[in-house]
Amino acid sequence: MPDLPTLANLIDGRLEAPVGGRWLEVHEPATGVVHARCPRSDERDVAAAFDAAQRAAPAWASLAAHDRAACLNRLADLLESRLESFAQAESRDSGKPVALARRVDIPRAVANLRFFAAAIQTVDGESHAMADQAINYTLRQALGVVGCISPWNLPLYLFTWKIAPALAAGNTVLAKPSEITPLTAFMLGELAIEAGLPAGVLNIVHGLGPEVGEALVTHPGIKAVSFTGSTRTGAAIAQATATQFKKLSLEMGGKNPAIVFADADLSDANMDTIVRSGFSNQGEICLCGSRLLVQRDIHDEFRSRYLEKVKALRVGDPEAADSDLGALVSSAHFDKVMACIRRAREEGGQVLTGGDAVHLQGRCANGWFVAPTVIEGLSADCRTNQEEIFGPVVTLIPFTDEAEALAIANGTDYGLAASLWTSNLDRAQRMAARLEFGIVWINCWMLRDLRTPFGGVKNSGLGREGGNEALRFFTEARNICIANANP
Ligand code: NAD
Repeated sequence: MPDLPTLANLIDGRLEAPVGGRWLEVHEPATGVVHARCPRSDERDVAAAFDAAQRAAPAWASLAAHDRAACLNRLADLLESRLESFAQAESRDSGKPVALARRVDIPRAVANLRFFAAAIQTVDGESHAMADQAINYTLRQALGVVGCISPWNLPLYLFTWKIAPALAAGNTVLAKPSEITPLTAFMLGELAIEAGLPAGVLNIVHGLGPEVGEALVTHPGIKAVSFTGSTRTGAAIAQATATQFKKLSLEMGGKNPAIVFADADLSDANMDTIVRSGFSNQGEICLCGSRLLVQRDIHDEFRSRYLEKVKALRVGDPEAADSDLGALVSSAHFDKVMACIRRAREEGGQVLTGGDAVHLQGRCANGWFVAPTVIEGLSADCRTNQEEIFGPVVTLIPFTDEAEALAIANGTDYGLAASLWTSNLDRAQRMAARLEFGIVWINCWMLRDLRTPFGGVKNSGLGREGGNEALRFFTEARNICIANANP
């Protein structure tokens, strides 16, 4: 592959080829063409990155918070100044519309860096006085070297969501982006050098999960692992590290419900949000509502309005300004989603719209495109309604009352995010308290305040990210007790 852009690891402030000299092909989902090669690193690269991170750790941890924040802010400023080239790269690597990367992914990566740069300078300390006896204070210190592993669906957005709090809290980082979408993390590594991040503070090692990922999480010197990805990989990480007693934050899969009550305000804007909650980023967002529960009283009318909007979604070249959906991220993922649609039909589902691959002309003729698909007529406990598909597939499920909606919504092994549409505040609060999900959106979806705790329950997550939760995860809290002097 002589003319392909060649990515590199970031180790000790330098861009390095993998020690073993092996490479992975990176595909452009919209065309199916290989557009870059990325290091297929191994445990030797992980060891070198760890050593660099460990050497850098004491000086980074002892910098004043505002000096660490200044580094993150410089990185954020550089990223913002290159927003367009990052958006183009993210779209090329992942298949998402470039307009989405421009509007959401890259601005959010900038915001992640700035948010944690600010948070580390304003975070409160804790102290507990024991009358006449002592004062306790909580000393929160950086852990040392931490591991951050991120998935392909929101590549830079989730990469920065992890490294920003880790670095802000004074840790040095060994990060592994997804091998399917490595481009923007590599580009961020280049910017980290330009921003003057001290060598070894941020190390990025590219490669496969079972090779680099496993070597990273099981490295005895890695004090904590923040992982986002599938439940299966989360379980493998928990198992592989069980005897090492390191901190784990696992953000995993979902099978999220969107619940629409008859009393909901179904304005055009709200209908658009409900459609977006199923199909944004080709349905490849862990927070997408893939089960659409609709109260029977309004079911038929809702269905026809909903289908009209879904049918109007344009699947197209991610570079085109009017594409609502781009390509699925990989050939393997395309095959998986198509197999899930076949299985839904076998389970008795009726496909109301979509259900097929989309064949585009021109440069996208060999891309991995799937039509937005809506299916009805399935039982709540069939595999289609229980297992994560992670594609542009939504099932319609009617319900009669609150109790039935709750039973269906809670009736999976997952518990990441639910959205609830109702104009009855009592009902909204009652339901929110009983829905077994880490996030409940009421009359909205994907409205994110970075200060709030983020994470799932059940098989969707262990631990919380966001705001102070992330800073707590990336620090060790110790109790210092000072006895009062004798009176
Ligand atoms: P994945 O689990 O296949 O991979 C995620 C990351 O883990 C990749 O970097 C991969 O290389 C690495 N990895 C794989 N095997 C590993 C191992 N044995 N040890 C260490 N690391 C390993 O997930 P994916 O397909 O990239 O992403 C899609 C999944 O991520 C979906 O299930 C989705 O719901 C989930 N997700 C969850 C959230 C959340 O916040 N809860 C956000 C985005 C995506």
